[in-house]
Amino acid sequence: MDHTDFYSDKKFCDACGTYRPYLQSLEHSYCAQCGSEVRLFSEADWEHFHTELKERRPKGGRPRKEHGKESA
Ligand SMILES: [Zn+2]
Repeated sequence: MDHTDFYSDKKFCDACGTYRPYLQSLEHSYCAQCGSEVRLFSEADWEHFHTELKERRPKGGRPRKEHGKESA
């Protein structure tokens, strides 16, 4: 498969300060470069992610339908 999702094969390493390929163990993931623990998003991206989720959610709780996108 050529199609790889950016966030699915890289996680954020605090030590490197960027997204790195990682090694998955049972409970944690570790940077393939330096061996530090990595996480799914950087703090900035994590906040951005949550902000976007909130903004996308309609206030009235009634989801607006996007034309045909979700029905396969
Ligand atoms: Zn690292």
